[in-house]
Amino acid sequence: MISPRGYNKRILVTGGAGFLGSHLCERLLAAGNDVLCVDNYFTGSRSNIAHLLDNPHFELMRHDVTFPLYVEVDEIYNLACPASPVHYQHDPVQTTKTSVIGAINMLGLAKRLGARIMQASTSEIYGDPAVHPQPEEYWGNVNTIGPRACYDEGKRCAETLFFDYHRQHKLSIKVIRIFNTYGPRMHPNDGRVVSNFIIQALKGEPITIYGDGRQTRSFCYADDLVDGFIRFMATPADVTGPINLGNPGEFTMLELAEKVIRLTGSSSRIEHRPLPQDDPKQRRPDIAKARALLDWEPKVPLDEGLTRTIDYFKTRFFS
Ligand code: NAD
Ligand code: UDP
Ligand code: UDP
Repeated sequence: MISPRGYNKRILVTGGAGFLGSHLCERLLAAGNDVLCVDNYFTGSRSNIAHLLDNPHFELMRHDVTFPLYVEVDEIYNLACPASPVHYQHDPVQTTKTSVIGAINMLGLAKRLGARIMQASTSEIYGDPAVHPQPEEYWGNVNTIGPRACYDEGKRCAETLFFDYHRQHKLSIKVIRIFNTYGPRMHPNDGRVVSNFIIQALKGEPITIYGDGRQTRSFCYADDLVDGFIRFMATPADVTGPINLGNPGEFTMLELAEKVIRLTGSSSRIEHRPLPQDDPKQRRPDIAKARALLDWEPKVPLDEGLTRTIDYFKTRFFS
């Protein structure tokens, strides 16, 4: 849709200076949109979007989404929220506030503007899943009082708010449940497994496996995920989701460690550390809905995505 300003859409990306947000801003600009990136730099940074700052169609605003935001946009992607367990447990009260109050403010903004709004939800809403792989119909298994609850319950409540604004105020919503995603611009110190293993391997330090390493995760490359975001936003209004987006390839953390050691040519050995409380034992998306409704599936195999991510970390931090 061409806006009255004669250009393409004006799109708000909250959390746009983060890992996924920066890839999304890039892709939306490349498609000819105006992008307003809003971020409080809690886990993101200007360096993630430094290459976009000279683009006249890109605007950066420092703002915390727990406070109201009055801007004029045609579409909203709500990504603002720390995503790694180390970051979201650093200030758990702020994590819940960001998810819940941030969602209320962005939904209020969408309501005033009649703008379409997408929520970056998460596979964490399934908790430590008793159903495997996880279809969207599964209601999850979350410990409401554990250390992960600030994130899991915050994101669950945000989903509730999205669906209530949809039913009560007829908002056009899109809810994605994102499974573990990796790629260039992951925060080097956020403690997530892919960045941890790559940095440890490149430094020749021990690879830290939590627990016995037989827990599983499914890893999606960032470009694939962003492609899914954009396809989903373009679907008709009755396609609200929630829709799982992730790579159905499932690996144990031991398998991931072996791949990273092989692809980096590292001499690092494996060291076991205690398993964090409530760490999910298994996770794999059922992506039948994304295939049917978005004609989407991930294209980048894990070895190739890891190679690109290793190249990024090497260039950025080791050269
Ligand atoms: P990230 O930490 O790199 O990005 C989050 C961004 O939000 C950062 O730039 C941060 O500064 C910003 N932010 C945090 N609190 C804010 C606030 N109150 N106001 C404004 N900005 C704020 O994480 P990411 O991996 O890019 O995740 C992006 C979104 O995707 C998050 O909502 C996350 O929950 C969701 N998600 C990510 C994954 C994944 O594997 N990467 C998986 C599931 C869901
Ligand atoms: N809001 C905002 N920008 C807007 C409109 C609303 O940040 O352009 C915030 C505002 O803080 C409000 C919240 O969104 O509290 C929810 O808005 P809504 O209209 O749903 O509820 P109300 O204004 O009645 O609280
Ligand atoms: N993990 C690990 N070593 C690390 C970091 C994480 O073995 O250095 C494990 C962690 O316990 C979990 C999996 O890797 O089982 C994925 O962790 P991550 O924090 O990346 O994501 P999440 O648990 O949110 O899926």
